[in-house]
Amino acid sequence: MSTDAMASTAITTDKTTPVGHLINGKVIIEGSRSQDVFNPATGEASKQVDLASRRTVEEAITAAQAAYPAWRNTPPIKRARVMFRFKELLEKNADRICEMIGEEHGKINHDAQGELQRGIENVEYACAAPELLKGEHSKNVGPNIDSWSEFQPLGVVAGITPFNFPAMVPLWMYPMALVCGNCFILKPSERDPSSTLFIAQLLQEAGLPDGVMNVVNGDKEAVDTLLDDDRIQAVSFVGSTPIAEYIYTTANANGKRCQALGGAKNHAILMPDADMDNAVNQLLGAAFGSSGERCMALSVAVAVGDATADALVSKMQSAMANLKVGAHTDNSNDFGPVITRQHQNKVVGYINSAEEQGAEIIVDGRNPQVSGYENGFFVGGTLIDKVTPEMQSYQEEIFGPVLQIIRVETMQEAMDLINDHEYGNGTCIFTRDGEAARYFSDNIKVGMVGINVPLPVPVAFHSFGGWKRSLFGDLHAYGPDAVRFYTKRKTVTQRWPSAGIREGALFSMPT
Ligand code: NAD
Repeated sequence: MSTDAMASTAITTDKTTPVGHLINGKVIIEGSRSQDVFNPATGEASKQVDLASRRTVEEAITAAQAAYPAWRNTPPIKRARVMFRFKELLEKNADRICEMIGEEHGKINHDAQGELQRGIENVEYACAAPELLKGEHSKNVGPNIDSWSEFQPLGVVAGITPFNFPAMVPLWMYPMALVCGNCFILKPSERDPSSTLFIAQLLQEAGLPDGVMNVVNGDKEAVDTLLDDDRIQAVSFVGSTPIAEYIYTTANANGKRCQALGGAKNHAILMPDADMDNAVNQLLGAAFGSSGERCMALSVAVAVGDATADALVSKMQSAMANLKVGAHTDNSNDFGPVITRQHQNKVVGYINSAEEQGAEIIVDGRNPQVSGYENGFFVGGTLIDKVTPEMQSYQEEIFGPVLQIIRVETMQEAMDLINDHEYGNGTCIFTRDGEAARYFSDNIKVGMVGINVPLPVPVAFHSFGGWKRSLFGDLHAYGPDAVRFYTKRKTVTQRWPSAGIREGALFSMPT
């Protein structure tokens, strides 16, 4: 089917039309390959997403390449004004966006509103583009010589994003890439694509010129086209570690700048002096919020001393009796289903394996009863005690509502566990001891650290990124690092000889 025949500029959320691609300001549907998008609460396929072929992705790159010269030369303040209008539109359409997130991702409305708000904060930061792009200037670095560094856009850049934050993670990337003067191709997750496409259309409504921002939905074929095409200068990726490593290695081999954020296993240390009631409340939200499908979810509690572990188990067990699991539409629910049937089976498989390997299942979420949603992809909150480091459920990322407890004797033992784990995204310590907390934050090999803060996700004016196999690349996502990632530095040294003085040839190094 010709893409022109199916092109439209209207923002539509009609469920009978497949979710398409935004190319050169128009939504198009290619019509050659598609896949089901599910409502995870009901377990039903609610719509289809069109999967872009190589040809469609190349069309998007061509549109971005054509839009680039004019956008690059648009003054930063005018680029920022588009973001001001975009922020307003995001706020105006928040309920509609969160409804779309809920329908396809399954997260409860209050959680989707939080995700969107964190995304909007990145748009607010991008509004500061004229300030952020000011560069550096030195006068008189030599006789009649001035020098400055400026930050020029890269050209056409791409972002590839995961299912778990269909609004927020893309907003980590393109607002900053765009205000820096780049054009963007976004390849969102094919599992919950509607809100991401809708938000990109709001950017058009905010006045972004056609072709500057493009969205291609798709799978590996779309991603590989972005990685292969010489016109793509840089790639930002967020997703699982095996894919992050593949993206990073391939993009580098193809001469592209790349940052690839991967998976996680986030530990919380519970010290014997911690305020246990507070820690339990914090752990409940951080382990089970969003069904544990957050890369910053706390999935392991490391209790220092058996008395701490026993208190934790008993308080968690009674608190978990009140957890409410259900559909996104009921805001009194704590969390919703996981993303797919396959993922539900995978999470249950990890709980089975922990049990088989000798751990104790304290609260079992393998068969949750969710009235009216019997076919949904639900896993209830699960608490597992006496987990040991050799267990598969400890070594791998579960990405579900499962909190595992490991018992250790000392704080150093707890820190060694964290430092030896292959992931290093987030971590937290619960303690009343400032000296212990300071030692922990100084010496822990993890990129984002909380002290009595369970989800230490940096605010938009800092940057986000893990260590070890949670991040491939040097620069973190959003915040000041994003300005560096989406620009290249140029340093200009300028001399205007006064009074026509000419200098002779100089063969030694100029000083
Ligand atoms: P995923 O790796 O399966 O998919 C991410 C993106 O990669 C999607 O757009 C997908 O279409 C694409 N992709 C998948 N397989 C591919 C392949 N073989 N070749 C090329 N592209 C491919 O991740 P997901 O399941 O959507 O998201 C969950 C994962 O993301 C978890 O591991 C989570 O920890 C991680 N995550 C990390 C962060 C972070 O900041 N570190 C944030 C959010 C999520």
